[in-house]
Amino acid sequence: MSTILEYTPLATIEQYHADLQRTFKSNKCRPESYRRTQLLQLAYMIQENEARMIDAFYKDLGRPKEEVTFIETHIMIGACVYAIKNLRKWMKTEYAPMDMVTGILTPRITKDPKGVGLIIGPFNYPIYCTVSPLMGAIAAGCPCVIKMSEIVPNISALFEELVAKYLDNDAYRVVNGGVQETTKLLELKWDQIFFTGSGRVGKIVATAAAQHLTPVSLELGGKSPVIVDSTANIDVAARKILWGKTVNGGQTCVAPDYVLVSEDCADRLVEAFKKTYAKFYPEGAGKSASFGRIVDHRSFDRLKDIMDRSKAELLCGGESDRDTKFIAPSIYVNVSKEDALMESELFGPILPIVTVKNVQEAVEYVRQGPSPLVIYVFTTDGKTKEYIRTWTRSGGLMVNDVIIQAASDPVPFGGTGDSGYGAHHGRAAFDTFTHHRTMMEAPRIAELFMALRYPPYTAKNYVRLRLFAKVNIPWAKPGSKLSLLQRLWIKIFGAGVIVMLAAAVAQRLK
Ligand code: NAD
Repeated sequence: MSTILEYTPLATIEQYHADLQRTFKSNKCRPESYRRTQLLQLAYMIQENEARMIDAFYKDLGRPKEEVTFIETHIMIGACVYAIKNLRKWMKTEYAPMDMVTGILTPRITKDPKGVGLIIGPFNYPIYCTVSPLMGAIAAGCPCVIKMSEIVPNISALFEELVAKYLDNDAYRVVNGGVQETTKLLELKWDQIFFTGSGRVGKIVATAAAQHLTPVSLELGGKSPVIVDSTANIDVAARKILWGKTVNGGQTCVAPDYVLVSEDCADRLVEAFKKTYAKFYPEGAGKSASFGRIVDHRSFDRLKDIMDRSKAELLCGGESDRDTKFIAPSIYVNVSKEDALMESELFGPILPIVTVKNVQEAVEYVRQGPSPLVIYVFTTDGKTKEYIRTWTRSGGLMVNDVIIQAASDPVPFGGTGDSGYGAHHGRAAFDTFTHHRTMMEAPRIAELFMALRYPPYTAKNYVRLRLFAKVNIPWAKPGSKLSLLQRLWIKIFGAGVIVMLAAAVAQRLK
């Protein structure tokens, strides 16, 4: 039974935008104590309502509670706690390293909130994909509107109710709706847009943002490959890959999309998949309480069409039921490059296995496609890891596991090229909504040097100016050797720099 989601009226969307602009201008969200309180409220909002979230996830995605707790709620509580612990450090003004010309002006970088943010979320991880950037917006001191996905109505309705109850409504509002509502949102001017979803809609968002010169982060998907070589622990690799492919019914942006296995271990991997499959679903995936469902009939039909058109050999699974939106985890072998399974991001519980000669051929295979969100590598060979890292491009690289890289607060998470741009998690989310504003201040003594720049320009001042502003290149030109005179000049110039720096430090200490 799903709830009917109430869409936000278009006039209300305009009102939200105006209200949040006013709140931003009032500086209400700036104080550290305000940010801390809102982050704490966000953490408690998730903790105190986890049971309701689990229920909503089950209604919308048939998702087992273990997958809600492990990949959605607890990770996001952790993200808020991490932000609270690090907030002061992130907000701190940074002093730039001294340089010759501007050192005396004590250049520093203040962390200013960018303004009013807009977060647009996808259906598949509706809490993770909205709370993580929301944490960044709150930490940065930005009010924001969160647009939830209309195809998970129970979760989106619940999120709207909870945000209204737990967070400051002057600053944080949820919009629910579909294309029309998102289009309305995109007509308005925001100071940062954070979009998670498909590349198709990502282009619409980036185009709309460009009309207002609004910066955008695009968290997109793609075909994330897994490369397996013979040095890997094959049984463990099969277990991890199959879990990564079936969690949330395969509807995960960082799910392993397909496997490239070198021929010297392909048979072993296929056998390991068969064994793992039987262990994961002893009663069959259809009866298993450990496997979710496809979100809607449109996505079901898309996946079924791919399976029907595939000419590859089915190893496990293949069953489906449109009424219950069930597609069994399905593993295919002997998959050609032209097969329907390899056309685009699968985003469902279907796993093609492509056999290649060796790691070099696997790398070539990956390089011919768009840059994925992540590349997974199963190997114990250090040289192979380094070879793959050097010769490929992707948002992230994970060795000997899957998906859990998307759960780490201290490192940025995001794509590159076709898998998007910008990042979130921890500090990266804070930085996304923060303007790094340069500030300098001229002490009186600076005029001693700076006065050289004023007209009338004279030959004498020009000589001094050159001396003052001269930038020394401390390395010889490639292919040439430094002359003795050049070396001498470097030494004299170096001594000059030290004297100037000492003067600047003395000024600061005054
Ligand atoms: P989607 O692009 O269909 O929808 C995302 C959001 O855009 C929704 O809120 C939706 O209402 C809105 N939208 C849809 N059509 C629109 C239009 N024409 N104009 C304006 N807005 C529109 O994506 P989805 O199906 O919800 O999510 C699946 C995709 O998201 C997959 O490609 C997946 O890989 C990607 N994804 C990426 C990440 C990541 O972190 N990189 C995380 C989750 C999902």
